[in-house]
Amino acid sequence: MLTASTSLTAQDYIDLETTYGANNYHPLDVVITKGQGVWVWDTEGKKYLDCLSAYSALNQGHCHPKILQAMTEQASIVTLTSRAFRNNQLGSFYEKLCQISGLSKVLPMNSGAEAVETAIKAIRKWAYTVKGVPANQAEIIVCSNNFSGRTISLISFSTEAQYQDGFYPLTPGFQVISFGDASALEAAITPNTAAFLVEPIQGEGGIIIPPDGFLKQAETICRQNNVLLVLDEIQTGLGRTGKMFAFEHEGVRPDGITIGKALSGGFYPISAFLSTEEVMGVFHPGDHGSTFGGNPLAAAIANAAIDVIMEERLPERAAEMGAYFITKLQSMKSPHIQEVRGKGLLIGVELKPEAGGARSFCKDLAQKGLLAKETRENTIRFAPPLVITQEEINWALEQIERVLT
Ligand SMILES: *Cc1c(COP(=O)(O)O)cnc(C)c1O
Repeated sequence: MLTASTSLTAQDYIDLETTYGANNYHPLDVVITKGQGVWVWDTEGKKYLDCLSAYSALNQGHCHPKILQAMTEQASIVTLTSRAFRNNQLGSFYEKLCQISGLSKVLPMNSGAEAVETAIKAIRKWAYTVKGVPANQAEIIVCSNNFSGRTISLISFSTEAQYQDGFYPLTPGFQVISFGDASALEAAITPNTAAFLVEPIQGEGGIIIPPDGFLKQAETICRQNNVLLVLDEIQTGLGRTGKMFAFEHEGVRPDGITIGKALSGGFYPISAFLSTEEVMGVFHPGDHGSTFGGNPLAAAIANAAIDVIMEERLPERAAEMGAYFITKLQSMKSPHIQEVRGKGLLIGVELKPEAGGARSFCKDLAQKGLLAKETRENTIRFAPPLVITQEEINWALEQIERVLT
């Protein structure tokens, strides 16, 4: 049997995955066997700079020793209690999240998609029990080009045809406006509007940054109309954009946020919905739950993951290193680059349509030892772990220059 062999080649691993796995991803054929900080290694021992960070789940870098220690310690004490009982890890984790976000209540889940599902349930129940929207009429406004995850309800408000095709019937109750358009938001609000659910920067959508002041305007419009402002910070949160949360750039105070990805420290899935007391107050015992949500292992890991972000001043590092990286990319003389945009270390390099798609450039970058992934057709995302140094960015820039010029 192939699996019994002790020395599989990269191609063997690829064949095994392809033979037995669902074909729902189109990975670059780099078989990673080890990771440390910003670097990963493949089966041949070749080293790569990770400029994707597992879609920003690795803000702290691969295998961060402090998070690893928290994980292994907690793993040998108690890992899972279920929420049928209490555990000694959860409370301090909640407290930490409230302190860094300015929100007052936490509901822990596992994946990002589950956190957004939780937000939607909270929003709807708030609409009926607090705002007084007639039964079953609550509407949520979202933006075109959004990404919130892959469950049926979340793809129901996607504007990507492929995310929906073949998966009908969809969940009703969502209105789509164009991203960054405050007057469209105002016009879309009805007496039944419960919330505006939006990413501060669209990550999967191609690193799309809304016009300055959009979030602040959205906040004002929401307040005036008794509509909740709920931000999906799963990709932008926890330091990525140069602040702990992207809403801080405009001094916005959301009614709720979803977080995930880097909350894991890259080790173990954990997500959360955070909100005001008023919004979270709609949940009563039995309304919502998750077998693994809030387990002590996840809480201990997330606690350490947040500590690392604060102790190593990762938001400040992202701001500083990101500004440097973006400036250098913008001054690169490439016939293929249409636009470079980004905030902190969430950076998109959009290629000209005639460049032939971002994927082939990502393959070339991998050849040169830099891992990046296309997002949408023509944009390469550069989102390295926030622990990256200026020297490492310089090395990345050399490889990018070799491939793009
Ligand atoms: C990744 C992502 C999600 C979904 O998270 P999963 O853990 O993959 O379910 C939701 N929203 C945003 C903005 C994301 O980037």
